[in-house]
Parts: sequence; C-alpha cells; structure tokens
Amino acid sequence: MKIVFLGPPGAGKGTQSERLTSRFGIPQLSTGDMLRAAVKAETAIGLKAKEVMAAGQLVSDDIVVGIVADRIGEPDAAKGFILDGFPRTVAQAEALDAMLTGKGLALDAVLELVVDEGALLDRIHKRVAETIAAGKPVRADDNADAVATRLAAYRQQTAPVSGYYASHGVLQRLDGMRPVDEVTASILAALGEAPRQRSSQAANV
Ligand code: ADP
Repeated sequence: MKIVFLGPPGAGKGTQSERLTSRFGIPQLSTGDMLRAAVKAETAIGLKAKEVMAAGQLVSDDIVVGIVADRIGEPDAAKGFILDGFPRTVAQAEALDAMLTGKGLALDAVLELVVDEGALLDRIHKRVAETIAAGKPVRADDNADAVATRLAAYRQQTAPVSGYYASHGVLQRLDGMRPVDEVTASILAALGEAPRQRSSQAANV
C-alpha cells in the first residue's frame, strides 16, 4: 500500500499516518521528521535546511526529492509506505511519479485532510502547549511568524498539489474536522478497508 497524505500543517497527517503504520505494517515517511533529524545531526543537508525550516519556508525540491528517493529504496519500504509532508510542490509530485514509474510502481491513494484555517491555528497552539507541558523542546518553526509562513507556503505551493492529483483521478478529500477516530474510519473506508472490530464486539461474534 502506497499512500500520500496531503493537508496543511496541523491537519492531522502525522496522527493518522501513525495509526495506518500500525495497521498496515508499513513505515510513515515524514519529510519533516527526516529533515529535523538531519538538522539535529548537523549533516550537510541539515545545515542547508536549518534556517529555511526555522523560518517556515520550504526546503528546495532537489534536497527533499533526494531524501525521499533514498528512503523509499530501503527494505522496510518495499511493502509500501505512507508519505506525510511530501510532495509539497507540483514539481515534487512529478518527481515522485517519475520515481515510482521507474520502479514499475504507482500510488494506491492520495488522501487530503480538509480542515479550516482557524482550527489549524488552534491545533498548532495546543500542540505547542502540550510539548511545553511535557518538558520537550518546542519546534523552531512553532512560533507565530513561522506558522504564518508555513500556512502561506501551503496555500501557494502545496494546495496546487491537490489539483495535480485530482486531475490524475486519484485524489480523495476527507473531512479532517471530525474527531480523530472518525477521521481514521473515513480513511479506512476510502482505502476500501473494513474498520477493525473492538475486542468486546469480537467476543460476541
Ligand atoms: P508541518 O506540516 O507541521 O508544517 P513538517 O514536519 O511536515 O511540518 O515540515 C516541517 C518543515 O520541513 C517545513 O515547513 C519545511 O521547511 C520542511 N519540509 C518538510 N517536508 C518538505 C517538503 N516535502 N518540501 C520542502 N520542505 C519540506
């Protein structure tokens, strides 16, 4: 199963990706996580990406496409993967198509989580508060200026990616405003999967 998640920052891509990871036994490939790891490890890519990310802008297509191409070639991605945060530009979407076609592969689904902008800001603020309460470091781009830039980058550069996949007939738009479990259920339905029964119900069967 090869899935792409689209949606603005705070839409719930990470949360839903994690759930699908355990259900399908395929890795979540978050370009944001990979880039943050590179920044932390101070690799050549990390050093290039650090300031751009902290400002909330997009890292160059070349860098990100290179990271994803390497990652999907690793053995754990052979059965499939969930892309979270990639592609974020139409050029990245085209590069992904070329990568997969070259391997005789294709995406199974592109799922867009649709959330209104006021809710996004609330969710991001909540995430920051929870991070602080847990005594963990806050992301360098979780401040008001960088969040505004991230949303602007989404509108200008990433929103057109939905149109790209819609024109290829693979886009499914899902309501990301509902409770987390309901969003998961709608994702499973979109993937043609039956929801898993709870053990109490299963015991009655
Ligand atoms: P969020 O979706 O919450 O904004 P991510 O963790 O997905 O955050 O990404 C954090 C940052 O990493 C982005 O603002 C951008 O700077 C960089 N980044 C992640 N994925 C990409 C990508 N596909 N293309 C360019 N930059 C990316």
